[in-house]
Amino acid sequence: MTPSTASGVGAEGLAPARSLAACAGVTVAYGQGDARVVALADADLAIASGEIVSLAGASGSGKTTLLHVLGGLVVPSAGTVTWKGQPLSSLDAAARGRARAEGIAYVFQGSNLIPHLSVWENLAFAALVATNRRDASGPETEHALGLVGLAGKADALPGELSGGEQQRVAIARAVIQKPDLLLCDEPTGHLDSDTGGRVLDMLVALQGEAGFSLVIATHDESVAARGHRRLELAEGRLLASES
Ligand code: ADP
Ligand code: MG
Repeated sequence: MTPSTASGVGAEGLAPARSLAACAGVTVAYGQGDARVVALADADLAIASGEIVSLAGASGSGKTTLLHVLGGLVVPSAGTVTWKGQPLSSLDAAARGRARAEGIAYVFQGSNLIPHLSVWENLAFAALVATNRRDASGPETEHALGLVGLAGKADALPGELSGGEQQRVAIARAVIQKPDLLLCDEPTGHLDSDTGGRVLDMLVALQGEAGFSLVIATHDESVAARGHRRLELAEGRLLASES
């Protein structure tokens, strides 16, 4: 493993000042002894503000683990993760939670909407948490629903929507948080290719307007091709970093 630099950001290709999130020499291992699995090995990468990075790789290659480590949900076994220049891995869980709340949002493979709340309620809840202001949550919800073209579905339950519509709600819920970094884990994994393509178009268009950094983990080459830059994972190792 390469020792991290004094600044804590040893990732190649980008000056630390430009990177929003970075990993230097990051290893994540699960389990002990014979059951030990190295999900991510000695990963170096830096995500710049406003870029779209695709993270390609087969199932089990470590994509989800890398997203979790970048977002502070998993603490690495070794190495340094930084968020806006701050070493995330040295913070306690509460401080990591605050860092996450201030700018990192997720879209998962399944939309993970709350099933017994309407589309409006799912989004209003996220808006309330994000803004901490009751008066802001209505207008923010209305705006986000409009952005993903689902104003007419406000009263529907998630189960009454198609898979593509559910993912659009999940994207609206992420965008409502006004993230600096949006981490998408196989966001089109449950969708047919046409629907998935439209969901991606929407994601890329929203990224263009709002300017957040977008990381899209996928095992689908046509999805990976949408990134400004493509990273590839195989058996926990980052193989390529094109810029
Ligand atoms: P991907 O998202 O590319 O499918 P993951 O990051 O989910 O890959 O998994 C990488 C490796 O780590 C796999 O071998 C997987 O089985 C293992 N793994 C992931 N999460 C855990 C866990 N919580 N406990 C044990 N092993 C895990
Ligand atoms: Mg995964």
